[in-house]
Amino acid sequence: MRTFAVLILAWLAAFPLGAQPQAIHRAVKLMGCGFEFTAIHEDPALARQAIEAGIAEVSRIERLISSWDEHSQTSAINRNAGIQPVQVDDELFQLIRRSLKVSGITNGAFDISFAAIEKLYLFNGSETTFPPAEEVEGSVAKINYRNIIVNPEKHTAFLKEEGMRIGFGAIGKGYAANRARAVMQSMGIANGLVNASGDLTCWGKQEDGRNWGIAIADPDDKMKAIAWLPIGEGAVVTSGDYEKYLMVDGKRYAHIIDPRTGYPTTGIKSVTIVCPDAELADALATSVFVLGKEDGLALIDQLKGIECLIITEENELVGSKGLQLQYE
Ligand code: ADP
Ligand code: MG
Repeated sequence: MRTFAVLILAWLAAFPLGAQPQAIHRAVKLMGCGFEFTAIHEDPALARQAIEAGIAEVSRIERLISSWDEHSQTSAINRNAGIQPVQVDDELFQLIRRSLKVSGITNGAFDISFAAIEKLYLFNGSETTFPPAEEVEGSVAKINYRNIIVNPEKHTAFLKEEGMRIGFGAIGKGYAANRARAVMQSMGIANGLVNASGDLTCWGKQEDGRNWGIAIADPDDKMKAIAWLPIGEGAVVTSGDYEKYLMVDGKRYAHIIDPRTGYPTTGIKSVTIVCPDAELADALATSVFVLGKEDGLALIDQLKGIECLIITEENELVGSKGLQLQYE
């Protein structure tokens, strides 16, 4: 009984009666881009600890899936392209499988083997020409998700052709945001938000008890909101051409490759996907860029519980059938 009383007292000391939930924020560079974490809790120390754990989780994932880190399992798969299957952790194995599933749904618009062509482009805004056509043709021939062979018994992944390469640039941040959220929730954070540079997932409520709502940035002026999305819980992921792009003859191309041609996509400024799952939203945002306005919307309208907002090159706003936007 005494221990019980002492415990209760300790609890009261930690949470003085009437303590208000507080939002703790932290911005940090991870996976080569800016991440923002918000944890809302009566105990700020716990909120900070949970954010630290979220950060550690993203770093762990980065080490596993980065195709730039030569020590990662992804790099081992790439090094063994055309040579032999590589045994990988279940986590990476499942991420590859889910990526292949998205390739199936999008008819190959999403393809992690796009990475065979990655080195031909810089997308830092300074390029003014396309790479030589022969090089594009040579590399695009290596892009084909059907040549990513996974073996569930042996837990291996094999890139069938030499010169193939995979990369998780279009799905990894969404996955990492999901995982950071799960870790924070498991530590008792019932209200929070993880924003992986535009791949955002939120849960519970805001600090003042209101539902989460997300501002959609104006692609011509990132500091300005053009619309609001009331979301409550779930993921809102925006893929845009305003950070990484290529300009050729005055035309802007996004840092997203059309796996059918090997050239970057054009015509769309940004795609926002709203759905419960940040990883799927991330992959679909990229896919809609490749598919274009009509085919992209047709795909999203087929998928239950998933909505989409496209801003075209001409600043036209087009939404999927169930999208509930608020303009203020
Ligand atoms: P953002 O960086 O704006 O969030 P995305 O989620 O759309 O953008 O991811 C873009 C990245 O996806 C590219 O930098 C590249 O690494 C990768 N990528 C490019 N084209 C494809 C594609 N067709 N399928 C899968 N991944 C792609
Ligand atoms: Mg994406």
